Amino acid sequence: MKYAERMSRLGTENAFTVLAEIEKLRAVGKDVVSLGIGDPDFDTPENIREAAKRALDAGRTHYGPSAGTRELRGAVARYLTRSRGLDFEPEEVVITPGGKPILFHSILAVAEPGDEIIYPSPGFPIYESVINFAGAKPVPMPLVEARDFSLDVDQLRRSVNQRTKMIIINSPNNPTGGVLTPEDLQVIAELATSVDAWVLADEIYSEFLFEGSHASITQIPGMKNRTILLDGFSKTYAMTGWRMGYGAAPKEMADRIAQLNTNSVSCTATFVQDAGVEALDGPQDAVRAMIGEFRGRRDMAVAELNRIPGISCVMPKGAFYAFPNVTQACRMLGVKGAEEFQHLMLHEAGIAVLARTNFGSRNLGEDEEYVRISFATSRELLMEGLRRIRARIEAAA
Ligand code: PLP
Repeated sequence: MKYAERMSRLGTENAFTVLAEIEKLRAVGKDVVSLGIGDPDFDTPENIREAAKRALDAGRTHYGPSAGTRELRGAVARYLTRSRGLDFEPEEVVITPGGKPILFHSILAVAEPGDEIIYPSPGFPIYESVINFAGAKPVPMPLVEARDFSLDVDQLRRSVNQRTKMIIINSPNNPTGGVLTPEDLQVIAELATSVDAWVLADEIYSEFLFEGSHASITQIPGMKNRTILLDGFSKTYAMTGWRMGYGAAPKEMADRIAQLNTNSVSCTATFVQDAGVEALDGPQDAVRAMIGEFRGRRDMAVAELNRIPGISCVMPKGAFYAFPNVTQACRMLGVKGAEEFQHLMLHEAGIAVLARTNFGSRNLGEDEEYVRISFATSRELLMEGLRRIRARIEAAA
């Protein structure tokens, strides 16, 4: 059977492929520690679970509006107003099953063949995939280790031109843990304005910040009118499997995203949205405790990574990932690069990590090797995983 040409331009998120591989290995009795996927190992807080149960019992099991329930759009608008410090209206908010559809729908809503869309690299792999799928040209914005994985401003200046339709930013960043400084955001804002481009600000890790306070590009005067802010519940409230996220954008853009909802998923589950209201309006202690735990794991894991021969790791400022440089370790292991490192560690040492190539194409001139380590597992398993990496490298040395 034949498939549409566009399918050949669609990528994937390999974290899910590796997850399936781990399950296969475990099914045949292999002991695998997974530091692969970015899924918090915490239970969704009890007050949120109880709200969903109440909603189910109250019969909140029917279709709802495509843009989201009035109650949840209101709660999101209040949360954004509180956390970003500027006014958001419910009409600017659109609810989706996970944060991902905001990406998919907003890119589909603006990209024409020949348009260029700038995206962070390394970055969430879905950016490059969806830009290609939409027929636009992906233009990487390199995040460099020498700048603690903030962006290379000069390179960005060279990349922006009249064909630039959108600039995607993600701070704190998956996979590097890097954070854009207010100065970086200022430059991005000026460049986007100069060519009348949209900004898609993926702020899904905004609460996972270990130093300072979160800076949103929407706070720069004039920028809210050209920004789609993506955030959600998956990470902050440990709700990855519930599938609920949101965007905040100028009303006309929010309406178009909602129209794409109508055409694809209809709406986000109504009882799940009721739980979302409780998540945002209810007590936040569980979130604070979880983030405190992630900070402890980060400190411990980064210190340990820097003790492993052949590995060096900058301190991530946010999200829940470390992105160590494993160039030397690859040499010691006799493997060509991070992909072979990933394969060898999974099959010979029982430890799953994700190679840099799972996070967008390599940048021009990029010759170092990196892997992503997720802290979304207990301290014991995290340390056991790192112990296995160390042992395998030491055995090769
Ligand atoms: N954006 C980034 C940077 C992510 O890392 C993720 C999930 O890993 C998402 C968006 C999508 O989140 P969701 O699971 O809510 O669709």
